Amino acid sequence: MTVPADEILVAGRWRRGGGAPLECVDPATGEPLAVVHAASARDVDDAAQAAAVPEWAALLPHERARVLMRVGDLIERDADELALLQTRNTGKALRETRALVASAAATFRFYAAALETMETALTPQRGPYLTMSVYEPIGVVGAITPWNSPIASDAQKIAPALAAGNGVLLKPAEATPLVSLALARLVLEAGVPAPLLSVLPGSGSVVGDALVRHPLVGKVAFTGGTSTGRAIGRIAAEKIMPVTMELGGKSPTIVCPDASAEQAVAGILYGIFSSTGQSCIAGSRIFLPAARYDEFRDLLVAGASRLRLGPGVAGDTQVAPLVTFAHRDRVAALVDRAREEGARVLCGGAVPSSAGAYYPPTLLEGLPNTSKTCQEEIFGPVGVLLPYVDEDDLVRQANDSVYGLACGIWTADYRRAWRIARRVEAGTVWINTYKQFSISTPFSGMKESGLGVDKGRDGILGYMRQKSVYWGLDEGPLPWAG
Ligand code: NAP
Repeated sequence: MTVPADEILVAGRWRRGGGAPLECVDPATGEPLAVVHAASARDVDDAAQAAAVPEWAALLPHERARVLMRVGDLIERDADELALLQTRNTGKALRETRALVASAAATFRFYAAALETMETALTPQRGPYLTMSVYEPIGVVGAITPWNSPIASDAQKIAPALAAGNGVLLKPAEATPLVSLALARLVLEAGVPAPLLSVLPGSGSVVGDALVRHPLVGKVAFTGGTSTGRAIGRIAAEKIMPVTMELGGKSPTIVCPDASAEQAVAGILYGIFSSTGQSCIAGSRIFLPAARYDEFRDLLVAGASRLRLGPGVAGDTQVAPLVTFAHRDRVAALVDRAREEGARVLCGGAVPSSAGAYYPPTLLEGLPNTSKTCQEEIFGPVGVLLPYVDEDDLVRQANDSVYGLACGIWTADYRRAWRIARRVEAGTVWINTYKQFSISTPFSGMKESGLGVDKGRDGILGYMRQKSVYWGLDEGPLPWAG
């Protein structure tokens, strides 16, 4: 595995960042992996000044698309190395980082295709003029991503932003910049003009803040926590700048009385414990019908207790370390708080003695949905079991949350699935499956889980400005002045 040198990409040049050194650590061992000097506010300014490249925006769509297709090919060429780098920096299991790398390649190809097939609308004529709706790049876009799935979340912003003709300033999470820097090398190798993309690691409060406030940055695409999103939104409001926000969640996963136990249990375990629960759409509130509560509780506890903890690099690991030791301690403290709130710990619930930042799959019961544990995101391998008596009670509890990101429904009755899917406030609903993703399907959050839509063909429009053009058809002057 090649760890990128201590260089960040600023305005087309690889150079040491002007900020403080950031130590990247392998959370499976606690060993240092690399040191990356953070960007400074000056680096952010240099990047923003250089990022608008009119020659890129002026290329015909199929010409830009060809370059983006090549990025997809290069990601595939280096897939093993990228997956390993991300596993070492984030702790995630290799089987997951391989899937994230494949998804990043697919994202570049998808937006190349979306760009090449995008049409300009000739809107219906309503007078002696033709009317058109056309789209143009915004100019310079800021992309801010979290640490849980860096290459996939980077690609979901960089690919549509470049496809739309923009320059991009990417700020990866402070703890996990390595795979974002490696991805940038491939974007340049594919032929994207160098100053278009900058990768600016560093803390959110310094580099992220400078990026959001920069006058040349015309849009920010943010994925992260709701409180950070709110802070960015305040600055955006001052600038009258568009933002898209993919934020936190506390998603309900719902077992109906007629659900297949085998399918529901496997899906629920995957939904909450894959990625060690560090997933915005983790199904962390597990609603069980009161009449089958004990049966499902016992199956879930047995299944969770069998999951294999281990380093991300081991092929059979199901639950890898958390991203950092500090985050592991935060998760442990939130489980302690749950105990203080009255939770019974059914499995897990204690930091193991192994060297890495591990925390075991943990299931809790005995808390009302109104407790802090059920209302606040933990972002770790912790699920709470909640009984419900009937469908109205279920929907009321499921919707009693500031979040509205995702929902899972396990049932054999398609009418019931449809009813619940339409009543639950969530941007994505999975029926008899969970945590499946498709770049062709829009992704958004309701309530405090987000603003705007990512992915899908129209995801590219979020990185463009719309302009209407009227073509007068009258031979003579407008009648008013005469
Ligand atoms: P976070 O603390 O909000 O950080 C996300 C990114 O924002 C990081 O790059 C961070 O930099 C940066 N940042 C922090 N403060 C900033 C500021 N004032 N101005 C500009 N940028 C700032 O979130 P996290 O803990 O990394 O990630 C976990 C959260 O992300 C969870 O809430 C999760 O649900 C959410 N998430 C949502 C989705 C989705 O699609 N809805 C997907 C994945 C994750 P630092 O590294 O310095 O903190």
